[in-house]
Amino acid sequence: MVGQKSKGKQKIQGEGRYGRYKSKKSYRMVFVKTPGGRTTTHYKKKKPSAAKCASCGAKLSGISRERPYKMQNMPKSSKKAERPFGGYYCSKCARKEIKKEARK
Ligand SMILES: [Zn+2]
Repeated sequence: MVGQKSKGKQKIQGEGRYGRYKSKKSYRMVFVKTPGGRTTTHYKKKKPSAAKCASCGAKLSGISRERPYKMQNMPKSSKKAERPFGGYYCSKCARKEIKKEARK
């Protein structure tokens, strides 16, 4: 009586009314409007947290927040600031660091 089919059905019931994604914290809901006018819900992976400055911990601006597989195909200029210490220090800390290096 208890075949694989019934086992699968039980699993679906356990997922609940909102589907399997509701309980997962790593997903975000995206509302997509279809050509027919309906709005459907798509579940996508959440974006990772923003890159931070190595010395003061401030969020680095000008750096895109994407999952690694999307970062691979992005241009280098959108992944880090094009200056010395870009993508590592924020602009303030980079300025300090460059001065320190020059005064040595
Ligand atoms: Zn900083």
